[in-house]
Amino acid sequence: MTRLNWGMIGGGDGSQIGPAHRMGAQADGNFSFVAGALDADADRGKSYAQSLGIAPDRAYGNWRDMLEGEREHPDRVDLVTVATPNSTHFEITRAFLEAGFNVLCEKPMTMTVEEGEEIVRLAREAGRICAVNYCYSAYPMVRQMKAMVAAGELGAIRCVVANFSHGHHAAGDDADNPRVRWRYDPAQAGVSGQMADCGIHALHMASFILGDELRSLSADFASTVPGRVLEDDAMVNFRTEKGTVGRLWTSTIALGRQHGLDIQVFGETGGLRWASEQPNQIHYHRLGGRVEIIEKGEAGLHGDAARLSRVPIAHPEGFPLAVANIYVDLAARIRGEVAGALPGAEDGLRSMAAVYAAVDSARRDGAWVDARPPMFR
Ligand code: NAD
Repeated sequence: MTRLNWGMIGGGDGSQIGPAHRMGAQADGNFSFVAGALDADADRGKSYAQSLGIAPDRAYGNWRDMLEGEREHPDRVDLVTVATPNSTHFEITRAFLEAGFNVLCEKPMTMTVEEGEEIVRLAREAGRICAVNYCYSAYPMVRQMKAMVAAGELGAIRCVVANFSHGHHAAGDDADNPRVRWRYDPAQAGVSGQMADCGIHALHMASFILGDELRSLSADFASTVPGRVLEDDAMVNFRTEKGTVGRLWTSTIALGRQHGLDIQVFGETGGLRWASEQPNQIHYHRLGGRVEIIEKGEAGLHGDAARLSRVPIAHPEGFPLAVANIYVDLAARIRGEVAGALPGAEDGLRSMAAVYAAVDSARRDGAWVDARPPMFR
């Protein structure tokens, strides 16, 4: 197997998501970490990159230097991960796609729907991969749920309920904490706080499991901590293209909830429940039967769930491995091999359209609005 060359922008020393990408990309030997512009501070970024084994001439001080350096490099990177703060994603992703690189962008892919449409068009025209790191969709048991829905094991789907609600920004006196403040500041976060930060993960997961896309929504946004401009709590009712009823609750003030990502799917003949804090089990209730627990690693799982189970039954399987699963399929795509599901630029665009629709709806007392990007109507 030929190793692919991989580079990262952002994800510097002390960043939250950087380590997960480094572990994820390199876990299976698919990618060699050969280039990076890892930090907003050029010197910090260069020295940290070299401490991770990147050669000095490919430890770049900023992403523009990396673009120039890699464009002409005889052994240029096959994939660039963009793990910088949200407002920079569009500019960096666009530049690397235009230069013919494959990109894995962190969520939210862009700050506006128009930017999202430009990325989708660009990736299509360039014939390059633009993936978005909706990594929770790569948990084996989420793949099992998707396969069970597709196989008709729940009958026709009536309703999906998705939550991404935690209590980590509940403290009012934490409002000036720099890691918290930007998330509720329109100048830095854009039109939405928690919906754009975490709600889109849960919404993507609902679409992913159902094999169905968001059509319309009605949102109620609240900023419950005094002084916050953007929402820290949102309830979103939605309908899918196939007419399934959807409910999404996303919050940062839900004390008592920790990570708080969970999803339930209710069909005519069965229901499923999964939570990221117990990622190895699905609760399955067949109509007229008892609740069964389906365990990761057990015999008889659907193909993608079995393929992506990395550790024996009843052993914990971590979040970085969900990220690693994204890289497994990226590597296969780049090599032109058969690959599994990969969240793409279309998903990034749909999320941004959902955020804008939710903002619009919330401003108009929960009016039902079309939540599809214009290019997909
Ligand atoms: P962070 O603030 O902890 O780290 C950001 C890093 O990017 C820092 O090292 C910073 O120096 C660097 N950086 C900033 N501007 C840069 C630039 N112009 N060029 C190069 N490097 C730059 O942020 P984080 O929590 O790691 O989040 C980064 C991104 O990852 C965000 O978009 C966030 O939404 C996303 N994220 C996704 C998940 C997920 O589950 N998929 C989880 C956490 C964060």
